[in-house]
Amino acid sequence: MAERRQGPHPQATPRPRQIVIAGGGIAGLSLALALRQALGEALEVTVCDPALERDPASDRRAYAVALGARRMLAALGLWSEIAERAQPILDMVITDSRLGDPVRPVFLTFGGEVEPGEPFAHMVESGALVAALTAASRARGVRLRPIGVRGFDTADESIAVTLADGEVVEAALLVAADGGRSRLRDEAGIGWVGWSYPQSGIVATVAHERDHEGRAVEHFLPSGPFATLPLPPGGPLGHRSSIVWTEASESVPHLMALDPDDALAEVERRLGLQLGRIMLETRLQAFPLSFGIARRFAAARLALLGDAAHVIHPIAGQGLNLGLKDVAALAEAIVDAVRLGLDPGGADVLAAYERARRFDTVAMGIVTDGLNRLFSNDVLPVRLARDLGLGLVDRMPALKRFFIREAAGLAGAGPRLLRGEPL
Ligand SMILES: Cc1cc2nc3c(=O)[nH]c(=O)nc-3n(C[C@H](O)[C@H](O)[C@H](O)COP(=O)(O)OP(=O)(O)OC[C@H]3O[C@@H](n4cnc5c(N)ncnc54)[C@H](O)[C@@H]3O)c2cc1C
Repeated sequence: MAERRQGPHPQATPRPRQIVIAGGGIAGLSLALALRQALGEALEVTVCDPALERDPASDRRAYAVALGARRMLAALGLWSEIAERAQPILDMVITDSRLGDPVRPVFLTFGGEVEPGEPFAHMVESGALVAALTAASRARGVRLRPIGVRGFDTADESIAVTLADGEVVEAALLVAADGGRSRLRDEAGIGWVGWSYPQSGIVATVAHERDHEGRAVEHFLPSGPFATLPLPPGGPLGHRSSIVWTEASESVPHLMALDPDDALAEVERRLGLQLGRIMLETRLQAFPLSFGIARRFAAARLALLGDAAHVIHPIAGQGLNLGLKDVAALAEAIVDAVRLGLDPGGADVLAAYERARRFDTVAMGIVTDGLNRLFSNDVLPVRLARDLGLGLVDRMPALKRFFIREAAGLAGAGPRLLRGEPL
């Protein structure tokens, strides 16, 4: 049990100077690092997650980290660690076609730079990011505990967090960063509005002969988008890309059961020939896709962070980026409160966090859901309308700039970390 200590303000009520984060995914670890970097010893930060025992390198998924999130990682002193293994997206091409179409007309192209020298996103492998976050958190004195959080009991001035082995830790705030199926969200009685898509996201790393030249390609096929995202050079053929392939869930058991040669042939049919000879560097991995947003992002002394607060379709590669925006907003609210001698788990902090994140999250959720509905079908009038729409956007530079700034996470003023400023 954590001991209670006196807060920094002489009149402040004694309360625990500790925050417990349940979930050591990218969102949870980033928050821990941001808090310790800004506040040092003034706040104890503990991250609990049985997965902290796993080797992060075993996760071969890769994410498109948007410019806003990249600036935050730079402000946290982490980007220099990752930059070498990150691939800038220099160019993006979108096509709308059927699987058998011999030619895939290009409807939309984006030059990748939002601001001079700053591409709108970088591809980063999850393993590299988690390893760098874990090392930096440890160096900053974050307590990393490879154990789950079983439950909690809320009092006026504190929250008693029960770990899987029965130990109870007193904290000012419990952050539930425990993923889309958050048990802590349910235990807090926070409702969830959402649904499952009849689709799964299949991911893999593909080795290829020709250079991708930093180009991301998204083919909108009738069963859903098939994205090829550039990774840094390497692998058995010299070049590598990550694929995110949305497929009808009913086809997934068949695809997962294919032997490696047949699986490669299915990938080849969708990828096309532009990258030359290809090989699968990892096996195909499928994730059922869903949409959901928590009815509230906070309850008494508890905040939801990342996928625990929202799960969106990967069509625009924005799920983790939304979680990193949560990190920037919650870290700012907590740091400002602690510096003023206020309660880091108080109602004002949680209200500021909810205000900062609610609108942006709901807007992004609606946009990604709408895009998926618009593109994952083969109805002729819908195809014509979307192709017309894409063609128009392609010819209107101001609209294109608007979309690309949204995708880069630069819209609106936003919290300090997302502007690359220290807390
Ligand atoms: C196919 C696919 C492609 C995607 N591509 C992109 C992309 O390109 N860009 C992007 O921004 N996003 C992308 N996403 C979304 C992204 O994967 C998620 O948004 C992100 O991983 C969520 O991170 P998180 O830290 O919130 O949660 P998670 O990564 O789910 O971490 C939750 C952690 O909580 C732990 N945990 C669970 N229960 C407990 C408990 N009781 N106590 C303690 N710990 C607990 C788990 O062990 C886990 O480590 C994609 C998603 C899919 C499915």
